[in-house]
This record gives sequence, C-alpha cells and structure tokens, in this order.
Amino acid sequence: MKKILITGGAGFIGSHVVRRFVKNYPSYQIFNLDALTYAGNLENIKDIEKEPNYTFVKGDITDEHFINELFIQQQFDGVIHLAAESHVDRSIEDPLAFVKTNVIGTMNLLNAAKKQWLGNFEGKRFYHVSTDEVYGSLGAEGLFTETTPYDPNSPYSASKASSDHFVRAYGETYGLPYVITNCSNNYGPNHFPEKLIPLFINNIINNKPLPVYGDGNYTRDWLFVKDHAVAIDLVFHDGKNHETYNIGGFNEWKNIDLVKVLCQLMDQKLGRTIGESAQLITYVKDRPGHDLRYAIDASKINTQLGWKPSVTFEEGLEITIDWYLNNQDWLNNVTSGAYATYYEKQYS
Ligand code: NAD
Repeated sequence: MKKILITGGAGFIGSHVVRRFVKNYPSYQIFNLDALTYAGNLENIKDIEKEPNYTFVKGDITDEHFINELFIQQQFDGVIHLAAESHVDRSIEDPLAFVKTNVIGTMNLLNAAKKQWLGNFEGKRFYHVSTDEVYGSLGAEGLFTETTPYDPNSPYSASKASSDHFVRAYGETYGLPYVITNCSNNYGPNHFPEKLIPLFINNIINNKPLPVYGDGNYTRDWLFVKDHAVAIDLVFHDGKNHETYNIGGFNEWKNIDLVKVLCQLMDQKLGRTIGESAQLITYVKDRPGHDLRYAIDASKINTQLGWKPSVTFEEGLEITIDWYLNNQDWLNNVTSGAYATYYEKQYS
C-alpha cells in the first residue's frame, strides 16, 4: 500500500494526474491537496470523488503548520507536487503571490517530507513538476536539454526556477530522493480559459476578439495534457532519483499559425464559413519580457523511459475542442464564479 500526496489536483494538469493514479493504481491511497484557488475546480475530478482510494484535502501549501501536521498524520510515501500559481500574466501583476506559493509552498513540502523521511529514504520519492520556461528564451535554432542553464525571464518562471533549485538542493544536501520534470505548454480538457487555447475556443464560441500578442511569431511546443500525465506516471515509477527529465510534444508552433488552425477547426465544428473565426484575430500590445521561443529536446525520457506523445496535435486539438463544446456549463461556471456555490454544497 502506497500513500501518495498529489498537490494541485483540482487544477488543469493535476486533475488528469489524480484521475490516472486513482484509476490505474487501486492499491495506492491518493490524497489530493488543493487550496481551490480560482484555478482549482472540483468539477474537474467529480467522476472520481467517490473512489475508495481517493481523498480530497482542502489546504494551502503556504501554511507550514498545516503541511507539517498533514505529513505527521498521513505518513506519505510519495509526493507529486503540481500546486502552483501558473499564469505568466498574473505573475507580472502580482509576483509575490508566485513567490509565496511556488517557492515557500514548495519549501514547506520539502521540509515536511525531509522531516518524515530522513533516516529512511527507502521507497520514498518527491516529484516536482516544473516547466520549460525556467530555461529562458531560445533564438530561431536549438532545443532545451536537461543541461541547458536556467535563465528565467518572467516572475512565474523565476519562481519555478527557484523551486526547482531548492528541490535539487534538498537532494544534494539531505539526500532527499527527488525527480524533476520540465514540460512544455500543455493543452486539453479542463484548461482554465485564461490560457491561449481554451481562451480562444471560448472567445470563438462567443464571437469575441482573439488577442494575439505582438506579431504572433512567439513559438511554443505543445503537448496534450493526458500525454503529460502518462509521462508523470512513468517518471514517478521508473525515473532515476536525483534526475531531471524534459517532457515535450515534438510539436512547435508559432502562436499565429496555431490560432489560424484553431479558427479553421472551430469554423468546421460550429458550421461557420471557413475564415469567419479568423476575422476575430486582433493583435495586441506585447507582454513584457515575452520569451521568443521555447522548444524541448525530449530525447532523454524517450530513450531512457520509452515515453512519447500518443496523439498528434490535430487529434489532441480536436478532442480538446469537442470537450469544450460539450462542456459549456463547465466553461460558464469557471467564468462566472458559480463554482464557489458548488463547492459549498459539496464540502461544507
Ligand atoms: P493550474 O493553475 O491549472 O492549477 C494549479 C492548482 O494548484 C489549482 O488547482 C490551484 O487551486 C492549486 N493551488 C494554487 N495555489 C495553491 C496553494 N497555495 N496551495 C494548494 N493548492 C494551490 O496549473 P496547471 O497548468 O495545471 O499546472 C500544474 C503544474 O504544472 C504547475 O506546477 C505548473 O508550473 C506546471 N506546468 C504547467 C504547464 C502548463 O502548460 N500548464 C507546463 C509545464 C509545467
């Protein structure tokens, strides 16, 4: 019997990870710890809330006392840490909130795990989920590898870089068994509609402008969220302690090209004339410190653990669009604040 703490499991990626672990590992006890910030939504994991190996814990990783008590009570064997403030634009408005959750919150988890595990690390693992944004910006050529020096440019990526360094330092200093993964941009069902793909799907449905930063030439690698969850499962079980793995979709897109494909798919799905949704594209003032290009070399996880994405971008986008079109209540709830009422009813 393994007791695993997954943090941030009511968020976008975390909900897919929690579901995968609850369903695939019935002998594990999965604890989902989430503060239910604006980005956390229990509707994301409603289908598994009654599973016998699943427990939801509402709590804040910045609360040191609470985290220590939780570890003392539950004696976890493993931690998969996803809870974070995750939106770059919000980090520009309020950097300190990102330091509190992403740096201090991670420190609280590291300290609690160290206290519980020190002296007997056998069978224990601290898995820190991070981003490729810690590596900074690439020019037109090259890929981020696991040895690319950190060079974060936004308060979000600086806070994630800091937390990555602390995790590694706890491995070096105290011997804490850790793994870190740095992943490219995810997309898929349950993505909060402040991020590019769900925001644009929502705006196309509602005939609202599609705000494209700068000239639209910013380039990102995109990975379907369920393929990220598979990679996390694999690294958690088979990754080597004290190692970092890059995860990516082998799937680079300029923002403007991606938006045009999305518009075309949405036109088809909504029965609109091809080209109609693209008329909503509006170029807006650039984000400060905007990184030109991220691209991941995911060959280490591919060759060492045999992981590769299972769907093409076209397949993943279609699944994603269908999900949003079939779950407009979810979209309306997260955009209207009605979700708070749901939570009160379920858990108060
Ligand atoms: P998200 O914003 O959708 O979810 C974050 C979750 O963490 C939410 O459920 C929120 O309620 C919870 N949370 C926030 N602050 C908390 C706190 N103080 N205590 C407890 N819970 C708290 O984020 P996401 O996109 O699912 O990202 C998850 C993780 O993956 C993050 O660590 C992020 O840095 C990393 N990541 C994301 C991407 C991506 O494209 N979304 C790519 C690579 C890595």
